Amino acid sequence: MIRLKTEEQIAGIRRSCKMLSALFCELKPLVKPGITTIELDRWVHNWIQKAGGKPAFLGQGDRKNPFPASICISINEQVIHGIPSKRKIVSGDLVSLDCGIDLDGFISDQAITVEVENVSDEAHQLNSVTRECLERGIAAVKPGARLLHIAHAVSEYAHANGYGVVYQYCGHGVGFAVHEDPTVPNEPHGANPRMSAGLVIAIEPMINAGTGDVDVLDDKWTVVTADGRLSAHWEHTIAVFKDHVEVLTERIV
Ligand code: MG
Ligand code: MG
Repeated sequence: MIRLKTEEQIAGIRRSCKMLSALFCELKPLVKPGITTIELDRWVHNWIQKAGGKPAFLGQGDRKNPFPASICISINEQVIHGIPSKRKIVSGDLVSLDCGIDLDGFISDQAITVEVENVSDEAHQLNSVTRECLERGIAAVKPGARLLHIAHAVSEYAHANGYGVVYQYCGHGVGFAVHEDPTVPNEPHGANPRMSAGLVIAIEPMINAGTGDVDVLDDKWTVVTADGRLSAHWEHTIAVFKDHVEVLTERIV
């Protein structure tokens, strides 16, 4: 069931989103060769606590195998849900950072993909197209329009560039919980409700250089491309009002 938000509730989600984007602005320059992903996770955890929020992703999922970190860091062929570790970032890595904050019960969700120093042309092109897929998905959000317009916009642009769209993982409603209804796919399938005032969703294209097929590693979290080729991921939290649409998270430069 879709839980629509009041303007007051959206104001709370907006505050959470602004905090999250401020975090990304400070985090992005730290993603450099030599730093380990667990160091980045500790930095994120401390930043969120100091800012007065809670890391929304920490402990998510199955109680027997909860997500053990405050941020998902997925490198190269890793698509999403990468677990921070002793792995060092190296030049040429394509690093997806996905984080959420719980601020006074209001949840935000954003992801960016960082090109570390000199990435291949293939990686740069994939990242640019994925970012544009997100923008096209956002442009498809209109009060009264159907949800799958987003998937059409995202997938058409990805396929026109010869890329695969991850279809087993999707965007989602957000704001009161990390994952709410509706499911927001990047390839058109499933329910197609109208987008009405009070809808708050995370749109998050996951685009692969090869096919859209993915596997999950033995850690039961890390999602990787089935063909081992690169993947990129961008995400914003978006609110629908009666007569306009607002991207609540900030675009990170
Ligand atoms: Mg996310
Ligand atoms: Mg999300």
